[in-house]
Amino acid sequence: MKKIVALTLALMMAVCCLAGCGEAKNENILTMATNAEFPPYEYMENNEIVGIDAEISRAIAEKLGYELVIENVDFDSLIPGVQTGKYDFAAAGMTVTEDRLEQVDFTQSYATGIQSIIVKEDSPITSADDLFADGASTKIGVQLATTGDLYCTWDIEDEGLGSVERYNKGADAVMALTSGKVDCVVIDNEPAKVFVQNNPGLKILDTEYAVEDYAIAVSKDKPELLESINKALGELIADGTVQSIIEKYIPAE
Ligand code: GLN
Repeated sequence: MKKIVALTLALMMAVCCLAGCGEAKNENILTMATNAEFPPYEYMENNEIVGIDAEISRAIAEKLGYELVIENVDFDSLIPGVQTGKYDFAAAGMTVTEDRLEQVDFTQSYATGIQSIIVKEDSPITSADDLFADGASTKIGVQLATTGDLYCTWDIEDEGLGSVERYNKGADAVMALTSGKVDCVVIDNEPAKVFVQNNPGLKILDTEYAVEDYAIAVSKDKPELLESINKALGELIADGTVQSIIEKYIPAE
């Protein structure tokens, strides 16, 4: 009798795994992870996570027949959470990089990001080149584990040209700039614009640090989910939905 129960259980588990492999972890719900500190892609408004990524993801979930649940976590927890299957995907203005491609799969890109440099209005730093100058010793504020952090760590800190201060939130890095703890902040251009608007006395330099592609991260163990999300995203790009969501949050200048 015991054997039969064990066998049935094993069989049930195998079937569940087969059904579960590559699909969302819950039948009706798609769990998106993000870090809602990144306006206008994701931020809190009236206790709700809103922004470009939230809206694009909701449209994707709708197309695929799922309800979307959004989890707000630290930026450096996004990829591990996707890898372990805690979240179905991460949408967080996340840049596609070689290193991340070894850890997760990415959909096609839905937006371009630029790493910008924010300084005080009277700063002696006037271009990206100033950060690389010999003896510059610039203190750079970044958001932990973002590409701004990675690039500045490799290009500047590891080269002995300056130091990197890492903050959990981009807004905290900007606050450190305002209070003189760092000399500049390297961060994505759209949140940079919002932070500069909210903090008088700051400006964004004309020269950009890097240009990058944003995409949605999915576990390497869920190729079918990746394909479904990619297909839905492709349709939403083709029919102009993605563009209109972006324009809603980033009005043309
Ligand atoms: N685009 C940057 C990155 O992927 C920052 C994203 C973010 O802070 N949400 O690292």
